[in-house]
Amino acid sequence: MIPLKQILIVEDNDLNRAMLCEILSGQYKVLEAENGLEALEILKKHKEDISLILLDVVMPVMDGYTFLDHIKEDSELALIPVIVTTQSNSESDEVAALEHGATDFVPKPYRSQVILHRVASIIKLRETAAIINQLQYDRLTGLYTKEFFFQKVRELLQNDTETEYTIVCSNIENFKLYNDNFGVQAGDKLLQAIAQIMRERCGGDSICGRFSADRFLCLQERDREQTDRNLFLGNFTSQIKNVVMKWGVYEITDRTVPVEQMCDRALLAADSVKGKYNKHFAVYDDALRGELLREKAITDTMESSLAEGQFILYLQPKYSVEEERMTGAEALVRWIHPEWGFMSPAEFIPLFEKNGFIHRLDKYIWKQVCELINKWKGEGYPLLPISVNVSRIDIYQMDLADTLVSMAEKYGIDPSYLHLEITESAYSENPGQIINTVNQLRQHGFVIEMDDFGSGYSSLNMLNQMEMDYLKLDMKFIQNELSKPEERSILNYIIAMAHGIGLRVVAEGVETREQLNRLRDTGCDYVQGYYFAKPMPVEEFEKLLRNQASLNL
Ligand code: C2E
Ligand code: CA
Ligand code: CA
Repeated sequence: MIPLKQILIVEDNDLNRAMLCEILSGQYKVLEAENGLEALEILKKHKEDISLILLDVVMPVMDGYTFLDHIKEDSELALIPVIVTTQSNSESDEVAALEHGATDFVPKPYRSQVILHRVASIIKLRETAAIINQLQYDRLTGLYTKEFFFQKVRELLQNDTETEYTIVCSNIENFKLYNDNFGVQAGDKLLQAIAQIMRERCGGDSICGRFSADRFLCLQERDREQTDRNLFLGNFTSQIKNVVMKWGVYEITDRTVPVEQMCDRALLAADSVKGKYNKHFAVYDDALRGELLREKAITDTMESSLAEGQFILYLQPKYSVEEERMTGAEALVRWIHPEWGFMSPAEFIPLFEKNGFIHRLDKYIWKQVCELINKWKGEGYPLLPISVNVSRIDIYQMDLADTLVSMAEKYGIDPSYLHLEITESAYSENPGQIINTVNQLRQHGFVIEMDDFGSGYSSLNMLNQMEMDYLKLDMKFIQNELSKPEERSILNYIIAMAHGIGLRVVAEGVETREQLNRLRDTGCDYVQGYYFAKPMPVEEFEKLLRNQASLNL
């Protein structure tokens, strides 16, 4: 049986109270209070279970209006509908009651059918409103839900065709990681804090909603958004420690575009700066649209391109500075696409790191390199170590040691002929993981080259914490240092320090004789760069190998 709904009757006159009880008690459970103060006491205990209050105005101790003023103050009590019982058919009494927040009124003397109907319909109305309310507001943050946000924006754009508007979307960088590290409760707190800042920053007339877990939406007046932009976007991040926010902006020009799609575009703009260190927001425009379409085209064809052998292995030789002799090579991938032609890895590697395809591609390249070394062994070439690139994403998501050990075993390759270039930025992102992985790999005999050294922030600390074999100086770093007068450059110190802890040093991007000479003076061990050779197809590299060994294979 469904429990009866409860009604609180607040009335000092015994006779009137008894009459109301009589009318209502057939269908409701009735609680009684003789004045406003008593009623407040009862509400303290029963507020969740009371569906409606019937309230007299003139009472001793605390009258009806004062009682109404009190419950208005309490957000939960304010939700309970109140019907005021007025003495006469006096309009001023009725207006006063409504002004104090009453939902409705019934005149005395009581007529049972009128009262029952009013009570029933008001309770019903309030319950429906409560359900709608739940759908309109996101429970965690109190912002509009996604659907309701869309509806509100739609209405506003229809009603106000004059003002120009912009949709702003925010996204927390690495929210999943935050949840994993600090727990779901802390994650919820963070979302609430962000919602609060959104509300405050976006101002009174803007509409704010929560799109999904960590994505928020806001409709702002265009002018305001533009003046606020830097302030808003810049300050936002500094308010919440260790959290990076990314923002996407869609400026509404064509109002026939469905609101859902406008929001998607703002979200896409926000996603386009995901993982980009120095960029915090992007505006959805034709350039971004083109870029996204290009990304989609790449994503659509990458699988078949791999299957069809469009990813080609190139090798760029490395030379010893002392003897100017080839001592190894780096494997660099090229994508030769039947329509788009020759593509540089800078164009597709970052995307593959985003969509996870990098694992497949890297394994493919490693395998090609293993096959090649195995072939050279069989054909009597002098063996040189080949370096392969290991994406930072591989370190987080693959069982690297297992994969590489079984690959080397399968092709009968001594792991010391496979050098692994791991980019320095992997260290700052997740030091624990990389130290662990690198240790394992070294135990199996692989040689570790720390790539792009000098491009990030963690360099020196990392040298302290992690065992490795080679330091590969970032191209920009060495070009920058080599352009300074010798006494102003820190290159000497870096190289001396590397040697001091047993590392050999490779310089990348060496393009001129002068650069090579300077590097020799500073004690650099190996160089790689256009001065000696560009990355080349395997056949060409084999020719160099044969020449160097004076072999006629
Ligand atoms: P990286 O590992 O730092 O590779 C060195 C880049 O410098 C290569 O660019 C190479 O062609 C270029 N380079 C070499 N010598 C010179 C020079 O003297 N001057 C100039 N200006 N550039 C020089 P590339 O081949 O375009 O590769 C770009 C990046 O893409 C690589 O940077 C690497 O991070 C990534 N990459 C390439 N192949 C692979 C791969 O198979 N797997 C993964 N995960 N990443 C790869
Ligand atoms: Ca590299
Ligand atoms: Ca590099």
